[in-house]
Amino acid sequence: MTPLDPDLMHDAARRAISYLEGLPGRPVAARGVDDLAALAGPLPEGPCDPADVLAMLDRCGSPATVASAGPRYFGFVTGGTLPAAAAANWLAAAWDQNAFSFVSSPVAAVIEEIALGWLIDMFHLPEDLSGAFVTGATMANFCGLAAARHRLLADAGWDVERHGLFGAPEIKVIVGAEAHTVLFKALGLLGFGRERVIRVPADDQGRMRADAVPVIEGPTLVCLQAGNVNTGAFDPAAEICPAAREAGAWIHVDSAFGLWAAAASERAHLFAGFEQCDSWATDAHKWLNVSYDSGVCFLRDGEALKAATAAAAPYLPTSEHREPFAFTPESSRRARGVEIWAALSSLGRSGVAELVERNCRQAARFAEGLAEAGHEILNDVVLNQVLVSFGSDERTARVIQAVQEEGTCWCGGTTWQGRTAMRISVSSWATGDDDVERSLDAIIRVAQRNP
Ligand SMILES: *Cc1c(COP(=O)(O)O)cnc(C)c1O
Repeated sequence: MTPLDPDLMHDAARRAISYLEGLPGRPVAARGVDDLAALAGPLPEGPCDPADVLAMLDRCGSPATVASAGPRYFGFVTGGTLPAAAAANWLAAAWDQNAFSFVSSPVAAVIEEIALGWLIDMFHLPEDLSGAFVTGATMANFCGLAAARHRLLADAGWDVERHGLFGAPEIKVIVGAEAHTVLFKALGLLGFGRERVIRVPADDQGRMRADAVPVIEGPTLVCLQAGNVNTGAFDPAAEICPAAREAGAWIHVDSAFGLWAAAASERAHLFAGFEQCDSWATDAHKWLNVSYDSGVCFLRDGEALKAATAAAAPYLPTSEHREPFAFTPESSRRARGVEIWAALSSLGRSGVAELVERNCRQAARFAEGLAEAGHEILNDVVLNQVLVSFGSDERTARVIQAVQEEGTCWCGGTTWQGRTAMRISVSSWATGDDDVERSLDAIIRVAQRNP
């Protein structure tokens, strides 16, 4: 058995480079989805040359990708991958480290710890936070809420990991009406119930209304949001947090992309008050532009998360090092801290600030250009999200579809306060101002053709 085939690896690199070089010039939506059928068929009975496997994957698979790593993808909240992060990802794939422990991968364990410190510094969060590196904001929220569940119930004299939730003291859970759907998923997974929670009404930007937050007493979990997925708006943390802290509540924030505002001085005011939280969930695969999958949860009370995710077996290491597995629901895992470290190393503090500020400025330019063309902007553009209506819901839906088919850029749709809207989310390092102008022209042209 040959352990290594350099030609194959060079071929993979050549194909990957050629793919990346083609991104700016190709339609953004996937083409050739029907050709994926060629990848199906019965399970091969025997081996095949890896070079043929790779060629087939490239021929059939590459055209069926969405060019979300390119400069004109504005769907969901999707970053690309920075050159340093992509390159580090390739090297780390070769390393094939199991990042669960210091023993299984010193480099992965140490790099996580360094990246954690850098992120805390960059976001101006309290210095001595613990952190978990997980797959994305869904799991980062899950970790923050699992830690909250542990601590609130332990304080009420109940060991939830041992005895579960049946018969446990009740925890009041307060959530904004416009919280992200995955927050409810995480609450459901943790036994809090998706519908048992108190939903605080939101204002016209999707912010939790501070005047509608109920009086807090007894074990309480307050879930805030920094960065509404439609409008980009932030809950009024400065108004809500002091009383919640005073009452002993655990305050968690879903700041999947909003936390990055704290890294850009012109936007940091949006994050004011959120430094009072107990746990913060964010994504690195969105605004930091690292490879999927990558999210981080920061917590004041790392011991609570360790208790919630504790695992013990005679073969598991106990060392003086920070053990990644002690802070996450997963055990074996990839070394996702590597790309975060590489991205932060290559951008530096000022590079992250510039990226965030540039994308926000570009979002504002989209709003300005579309408004000038007579289209209605439905949100206050405070961050990187823009909601556009082209008149009736039917026309807006038609324009969204036609923009995706036209291929210059890709924008998704949503429903915002009962109206169909196009969502433009600017979160990629690769988006230049010229890409914004080209995309604006394309959207306006397509709208003219779809009256
Ligand atoms: C994207 C997003 C999530 C979900 O994050 P994943 O990385 O997809 O798990 C949660 N909350 C908000 C506000 C988001 O924007």
